[in-house]
Amino acid sequence: MFANLERTNVAELHLHRDPHSGLRALIAIHSTQLGPAVGGCRCLRYDDEDAALQDVTRLARGMSYKAALAGLPLGGGKAVILEPPDGYDRGALYRAFGRAVESLNGRYTTAVDAGTRLEDLDQVARTTRHVWGYSGDGLDPSPLTALGVFAALDASVRQRLGRDSLRGLHFAVQGVGHVGSRLALLLTRAGARLTLADADAKRASELAARLGARIVAPDAIYDVPCDGFVPCALGAVLNRATIARLRAPLVAGSANNQLAGDEDGERLRRRDILYAPDYVTNAGGLIALALGHSGAGRTRIRQQVLAIGTTLTRIFREAERAGWSTSATADDLAEQRLNGHRNVA
Ligand code: NAD
Repeated sequence: MFANLERTNVAELHLHRDPHSGLRALIAIHSTQLGPAVGGCRCLRYDDEDAALQDVTRLARGMSYKAALAGLPLGGGKAVILEPPDGYDRGALYRAFGRAVESLNGRYTTAVDAGTRLEDLDQVARTTRHVWGYSGDGLDPSPLTALGVFAALDASVRQRLGRDSLRGLHFAVQGVGHVGSRLALLLTRAGARLTLADADAKRASELAARLGARIVAPDAIYDVPCDGFVPCALGAVLNRATIARLRAPLVAGSANNQLAGDEDGERLRRRDILYAPDYVTNAGGLIALALGHSGAGRTRIRQQVLAIGTTLTRIFREAERAGWSTSATADDLAEQRLNGHRNVA
């Protein structure tokens, strides 16, 4: 267990158990150096407890890096609930989770993530104040996450293809859920052509019909010759096998933890595929929640989300100068921010 915390440099790991609701949850706080930790809560059936531990610690580190490079006064944390067997009382589970969050006295604020829904956060809000993105605050991060990915694609296209418009370009979008579907709409409006894939075939075909896009089977999306691969579904989709298959000059999408391992950033660089680091690209939702809670208006929030493109351009240029992968460059800049060097990115 400690080897994992040392590898990811996570400061705290909290285990919470509530026998009445069946709650078994892990809350990892990576850093509170820049402010209180914020990060979503996943509720999934993990293969084993070690897989849950790996997920929560890597994601918590990603949240610290995300907040640092988005210029937010926040730290990074994450929670995972090991989903109980079928038939559990969902409301009771999330109220128990809220009590676990409350016990940390504001050192960690939770939000939505894979396997959790707005209704679940409404239950969480009954037992803790430390929750963002529920009915009570009316803030939905997904549209702003999609806007941030759009800005990231725009910056990537300028850098890698030397073009100042997405018009006429072809993107392969993996996953058209909350973020992917909104992004697909933005890209279509900008004149791009899309190929879509989703594990939910009906969802993909309905959206494709609306947008005039093409669809392929989920596993075929890696082989689509296109101008950009846009992962908006799962983590670890960029690995030795898939990177060899990609026929795109750039990758930018919303999925968390896209690289299966740190070495995959270098694999992409060696194939001359420009990678927009995931935690920079998908920071729009966090920016919207953080600024929304500090009273900022729509225009200011949109401006800061669109600035993701500027941050990425700096990372791309620095990576090129240093001969590093973009992922290693972003990690390095984030670490510098966390360690108090504020004049970066
Ligand atoms: P979502 O659950 O609404 O959508 C994910 C979609 O991916 C679903 O439609 C699902 O059917 C599809 N999918 C699952 N496995 C697939 C596969 N193998 N191939 C193709 N499609 C597959 O989730 P979301 O909120 O849209 O988030 C998407 C990703 O972005 C996640 O990794 C999430 O952690 C990340 N993210 C989301 C936000 C946000 O604001 N929602 C913010 C930051 C990061």
